[in-house]
Amino acid sequence: MHTALVTLARATRCAIKAGMSSVLPPPQRHALSDGTLIYSFPVRVFGTFLANIYVLRRGEYAALIDTGSGTEQSNADLLSGFAALSEFGEKLEWAELSRVVITHGHIDHHGGLDFVRTLTAAPVAVHELDHPVLSAYRERIVLTSRALRAFLHEAGVDTPGVTAFMNMYGAGKTRFVGGPVETELRHGDVLDGVLRVIHTPGHCPGQICLRVGEVLLSADQVLARTTPHLSAESITPGNGLSHYLHSLDLLDAEEGIALTLAGHEEPVHDLHTRSAAIRASHIRKMERILNICVSPHSVQGVTAQLYPHVRSYDTLLALEKVGALAEYLNARGELQVANLAEMERDEHAAPLYQTA
Ligand SMILES: [Zn+2]
Ligand SMILES: [Zn+2]
Repeated sequence: MHTALVTLARATRCAIKAGMSSVLPPPQRHALSDGTLIYSFPVRVFGTFLANIYVLRRGEYAALIDTGSGTEQSNADLLSGFAALSEFGEKLEWAELSRVVITHGHIDHHGGLDFVRTLTAAPVAVHELDHPVLSAYRERIVLTSRALRAFLHEAGVDTPGVTAFMNMYGAGKTRFVGGPVETELRHGDVLDGVLRVIHTPGHCPGQICLRVGEVLLSADQVLARTTPHLSAESITPGNGLSHYLHSLDLLDAEEGIALTLAGHEEPVHDLHTRSAAIRASHIRKMERILNICVSPHSVQGVTAQLYPHVRSYDTLLALEKVGALAEYLNARGELQVANLAEMERDEHAAPLYQTA
C-alpha cells in the first residue's frame, strides 16, 4: 500500500559569521512512498547564492548528492546542514555514507568534494563526460579557458574586454584539486540499485538527473524560477541549446514524477509545466534575436540590446547565452553570416549575424 509523498521542514537555520547574520532556508525531509527518505538543505556557494545538497537514505544505504563550492562558507554550511538532519531523528555520520554523487562538473556542485573526501571514504560517482572535471581539473580549466577566449573574440569583444572577462572566469577556479573517481555513470545506469541515471547534457556535458521513485533530482536542468544557464557548444562539446532541449525531451517522457528537487531554488511540483515554460522562454529569446538581427549584429551587439543593464560577471553569462542561441539559429539557417568577405580577408573579424 503506497502512501503519498510527505515533505517536512524543520526550524529555520540561523548562521552567524563575521558579524553578519543571515538566515538559510530550513532543511527538509521528503518521505517517498517506498520508504526512501531524501533530506535537502542549502549551502551558500558564492556570496548569497545558494545550492542545494541532498542526502538520500534507504535503510542502511546513504548517498550524498553534490558537495557545494568548497569555499569556507560553503563547507561550513555543509557541515551544519548535515548535522541539522539530526533534527529529523536522523543519526547518519559522515563516515557512514555509502556514496557521493556529483550531478555535474560545475564548481558550485563539485567544489566541496576535496573537503568531503576528508570526511568520508565513500566512493564518488559522476557521469563519464564530467569525470575529467574531477580527475584532471587543471586540464579542463586550461582547455575551457582557451575555448572561451576564442569564443569571446568571435563574439566581437575587444582585447581589453576579453582580458577582463577571462580574469572574472578564472577567479575562484584554482581552489579545487580533485582526484580519482571510483564510478563512471552512463545514461540508464541504476547506481547502487537505487538511483536511475538520466543523462541530460546541454547545461553541462556530463550533467545527470537522478530518478528515485516518484522523485526526480534535476540538478541544474530544471530550476523552479530561473531558466538554467547555457553556453555555446563551440566552448564545450556537449553544451548548448540543441543538447539542452533534447534533455528536456527525455524528462518530458518521464511519468509519475510528483516532486522535482533541483540543484538550486525550491522544489518543482509540476515538472512538465515548468519544462514547457523554460522551453517557451528560449523560443521568446530566439525570436527577439531574430528581430534584432534584421540588421547585422555580432553576438556582443545582440547581447548589448537584449541585456542592456547587466554588468561584470553577468555580462559574461549573457554573452555565453546569446552565443548558444545564435549558434543554434545559425546551425539551422535562421541566422546567416552577413560579412563573409570581411571574415575571409581578416581572420580576427567577428561574424555579424543577420536574419535569413
Ligand atoms: Zn550548473
Ligand atoms: Zn549550479
